[in-house]
Amino acid sequence: QAKGAGRNVVRFFDPSLLAQMRARAELETDLRLGLPRDELVLYYQPVVDAGGATIAAEALVRWQHPQRGLLAPGEFIELAEQSGLILALGRWVLDAACRQLAQWAGQPGLRELSVSVNVSARQFRQSGFAQEVLAAVQASGARPERLRLELTESLMLSDIEESIAKMAYLRAQGVSFSLDDFGTGYSSLSYLKRLPLDQLKIDRTFVRDVLSDPNDAAIVRTILALAQSLDLGVVAEGVETDSQLEFLRQHGCPAFQGYLFGRPVPAALLESSLLPSAA
Ligand code: C2E
Ligand code: MG
Ligand code: MG
Ligand code: MG
Repeated sequence: QAKGAGRNVVRFFDPSLLAQMRARAELETDLRLGLPRDELVLYYQPVVDAGGATIAAEALVRWQHPQRGLLAPGEFIELAEQSGLILALGRWVLDAACRQLAQWAGQPGLRELSVSVNVSARQFRQSGFAQEVLAAVQASGARPERLRLELTESLMLSDIEESIAKMAYLRAQGVSFSLDDFGTGYSSLSYLKRLPLDQLKIDRTFVRDVLSDPNDAAIVRTILALAQSLDLGVVAEGVETDSQLEFLRQHGCPAFQGYLFGRPVPAALLESSLLPSAA
């Protein structure tokens, strides 16, 4: 079909769409094979408190693809969710993060770190999720009090009672919960009040323009006040500049994550940035 044949013509065959579908199918096969070959790797990004001390690290998955190089989650998480591979991926991430946590627990200077793990809604909803988490904790010897699971608001769309029960069960074992990307989803305040959460993470899209956009500034202030009144911790995500940090601190934000403090890096690099150098 010729170009410019008209905007309203339905095109039954789009070669670029076909190419896209092929590429997706190929990537899915690669991921299916790559998972048991240990091609995934966890990067860690520091979370710092108001005094600048690193109190936690968020585990962020990467895929060392044999041909395409290091891929960020934006390039494969959605695919993993749609294909169901997210369950195997999520288990791998939990196991690897717990092993890291246990290893850090044995090192002075690192033993106070908590580790945050992102959990997809689909992974959280599966019936054996809580057992899977506890199995990872027990196998690694990690302290559950140092493990934090990050959930998103999409969880609210499914059975809320079941979510609450799962969270309460894991919390009784010491595991804590954050609501990630807060403000971008659908939470009603009544759900928010009922979920057994420990922390909200202010989405970075609000932090980005907090100095120039009065709406974003109002949203950030509101989330901080909300967290305080619900007695929840807060982390501001995506802090890139000193002036963003200044704004957040002035409004009582207690913890920060973003390029200003450090990008996600392999565990060994995070360690060397936290430990006094041997030299
Ligand atoms: P997230 O959980 O909200 O993680 C924060 C994302 O923001 C990370 O992107 C991080 O690199 C990025 N970021 C941190 N600080 C800054 C900053 O100052 N500026 C900017 N522009 N970006 C910043 P990343 O690593 O590409 O991960 C993207 C998303 O992929 C994560 O968002 C999370 O939703 C998902 N994800 C990552 N790892 C996993 C995983 O193991 N399992 C699941 N289910 N999802 C994961
Ligand atoms: Mg997260
Ligand atoms: Mg986030
Ligand atoms: Mg996100």
